[in-house]
Amino acid sequence: MYKPHIVILGAGYSGLMTATKLQKLLRRNEADITLVNKHDYHYQTTWLHETAVGSLKPERTMIPIRDIINQDKINFVIDEVTMIDEKNKKVKLLNQELSYDILVVGLGFEAEAITNPNLNENIFPIGNLNNARVLREHLEYNFAKYANEEEKNAARINIVIAGGGFTGIEYAGELADRIPELGSEYDVERTQVRIIIVECESTILPGCKQEFVNYAMNSLESRGVEFIMDAKIVESKQDRVVYEKEGKRVEIPAKTIVWTAGVRGNSLLEKSSIPTVNGKVEVKSDLRVPGYDDVYVLGDCALITNPETGRPYPANAETAIASAGIAARNIKAQINKKALLHFRSRKKAIIASLGSSDGVAISLNGRQHFGWRATIMKKLYLNRYLLQLGGIHLLMKKGRFNFFHM
Ligand SMILES: Cc1cc2nc3c(=O)[nH]c(=O)nc-3n(C[C@H](O)[C@H](O)[C@H](O)COP(=O)(O)OP(=O)(O)OC[C@H]3O[C@@H](n4cnc5c(N)ncnc54)[C@H](O)[C@@H]3O)c2cc1C
Repeated sequence: MYKPHIVILGAGYSGLMTATKLQKLLRRNEADITLVNKHDYHYQTTWLHETAVGSLKPERTMIPIRDIINQDKINFVIDEVTMIDEKNKKVKLLNQELSYDILVVGLGFEAEAITNPNLNENIFPIGNLNNARVLREHLEYNFAKYANEEEKNAARINIVIAGGGFTGIEYAGELADRIPELGSEYDVERTQVRIIIVECESTILPGCKQEFVNYAMNSLESRGVEFIMDAKIVESKQDRVVYEKEGKRVEIPAKTIVWTAGVRGNSLLEKSSIPTVNGKVEVKSDLRVPGYDDVYVLGDCALITNPETGRPYPANAETAIASAGIAARNIKAQINKKALLHFRSRKKAIIASLGSSDGVAISLNGRQHFGWRATIMKKLYLNRYLLQLGGIHLLMKKGRFNFFHM
């Protein structure tokens, strides 16, 4: 009997969910499954902005992968993927090479700025747990240095956020709440600290309703966040960031540029011969790569077109989780030579937190929610994910139940 080797790359939202679905769907004699991830833990990217400002301990976002998977069915390899060789159906890792019959790529995203030579000093992406820890340490170090220096260097406590999309807004809200605490810890007056969002569009949260945008801006402005709209960051140097607006170049002294603008798929895909657009693969509606019926690409590495709008589904955790469900069922169908399903994502709620006790949300029925209601919604969504991934045990261990104070 045909017993394929399924290799899943990445244990983020899409990869780990694919693995847990497959362990339920397939019997041991139907397939060999290998899951590869850089670390022995899964982390919840949706909480990273809290880790990056220091309001949430990294351990809270980490879930040991061995606690989630059935190791009788899944061979878990802790290693770094270095190359995808889809022509020879092989994957190179730092320490070994794997052959596959079916490949699932769920390697997540990378910050665009990293590859731009003008934008690689003082740029801090929030792409993974280690990035988030580096940013938190950098912030605290600069507060401490500022408090200690005789000639004050404002660049140490000016924090520029590149991008006013969901991640930038969530980070700004969390940071605005954290600054008073940091200030009292390091003897820095709140009024001296600047948090500046630089956005290239004329609005933050592009695509959202005006009421939603106005609420978010007012909430952040009331806590001292500044907005510079229609401006593009073009350069970052050791002590400053430069943006262009209406044809003029303007400098802000800043040692911290938090990069939340411009995200691309994992660069390993660009290095393969699979065609990519901004590092992402335009997959078919069954989530396979055109021309490679044995390769599924999911989550932030994939561009999945919504047939109703003709535009890609948003790159977020919801899409990543939903794509994992379809990929797992399609892999089973492929093994059993049955028809494959098409990916359709139902309308999802939109939620952005604006700090520990404020937020904006649009629920499935289109109703808008502001303030603590939105923060509760976000926590309920996160808890639902934990329940889906690891059942009640994981929910009780890692769930967020501090609904009224955080
Ligand atoms: C700060 C922040 C807040 C967010 N908030 C929300 C939110 O509220 N709601 C929402 O829906 N979405 C949110 N998102 C977006 C969401 O987190 C992503 O869309 C989602 O994580 C994508 O899932 P994924 O499976 O594609 O990748 P990821 O979850 O990023 O997983 C990728 C995995 O691959 C591993 N990996 C990467 N490279 C290698 C390699 N070379 N070798 C081995 N392993 C590797 C990583 O360690 C990781 O485990 C947020 C993102 C950020 C950054």
